[in-house]
Amino acid sequence: MAEIVIDTYRCSGCGTCAEMCPEVFRMDNMMEKAELVTVAPQITDAVYQAAAFCPEKCIAVSP
Ligand code: SF4
Repeated sequence: MAEIVIDTYRCSGCGTCAEMCPEVFRMDNMMEKAELVTVAPQITDAVYQAAAFCPEKCIAVSP
C-alpha cells in the first residue's frame, strides 16, 4: 500500500503542503510541523505535487 512519510525533523513548518493539498496535509500548530490529516490518505497527483514543492524535500511518497 502506498504510504506518505513526513520527516518532521526536517520540516520547516512553511505550510506549503497544507496549502497545496489540504485534504492530506495539515499543520500541527503546536509543533509548527506538517502532519497527515488521516492515517492512510489516498495518493493523488496533488500529493506528489505537494511533495515536489516542499522546500525541505521532507515528504516521501512510496508506491
Ligand atoms: S511543505 Fe515540507 S517543509 Fe513545508 S510544511 Fe510541508 S512538509 Fe514541512
